[in-house]
Amino acid sequence: MTPFSSQMLEGIEFAAELIRSARHVIVLTGAGISTPSGIPDFRSEGTGLWSSDRPMEVASLMTFRTHPELFFDWFRPLAGQIYFAEPNLAHLGLARLEASGRLKAVLTQNVDMLHHKAGSKRVFELHGTLRTLSCTRCYQQVGYGDYLLAFIEDGTIPYCPGCSAILKPDIILFGEQLPQKILFEAQREARECDLFIVVGSSLEVLPVAGLPIQALDRGAHLIIINHSPTYLNVRADIVLPEDVARIIPAIVERVLDDH
Ligand SMILES: [Zn+2]
Repeated sequence: MTPFSSQMLEGIEFAAELIRSARHVIVLTGAGISTPSGIPDFRSEGTGLWSSDRPMEVASLMTFRTHPELFFDWFRPLAGQIYFAEPNLAHLGLARLEASGRLKAVLTQNVDMLHHKAGSKRVFELHGTLRTLSCTRCYQQVGYGDYLLAFIEDGTIPYCPGCSAILKPDIILFGEQLPQKILFEAQREARECDLFIVVGSSLEVLPVAGLPIQALDRGAHLIIINHSPTYLNVRADIVLPEDVARIIPAIVERVLDDH
């Protein structure tokens, strides 16, 4: 593995210093933190799961309501990738930072459960989660366990144990509202923090992309760790365009070493 450049080492040190001197640190993660775990960004094109404009169409609430089999056909390979994925060093690093008391919350755009698998406790899943499914008729909620594995293995569409209507994975589809309670709590975290760290998100999907603004408006510091530029790079204290699975552990190591 090539060593970090001296510029990147300075960046790591600076980021660690910001974390050490902050009172309330929160992280917002996007698809980029899970790509090292082999999970494609299900909202973007060119991931091999589809071509052209199909995700907006197939992964939509409208398709789910009218042609659920189309949704489930599309979703099956992705569900398998998510089900069997393991957290990577970036997820594990954030869990370690939380366990040390230096990270208060993880807000995530991901539905892949990897923060939980890594051991993070305060996780706000803004785009929903694959951990549960809900009945489209009676709203009963069930755990993913048996349903998801049967679906991945032989394509069995999940039905409600109570009323036999189709179960919908609790992931937020195109055309669907974000879970309001979770969004509200995430906004509160953004307003309370004095350091907001963006990890693996290009901040393109509203309203989540607006959360760092709420923090900045109250004087919080901002660290952005993402390969592609975001609209907030100009307002960040530091931007680190580096592999998340390399740089997060390095920063966490630096933070915890001094104590
Ligand atoms: Zn039901």
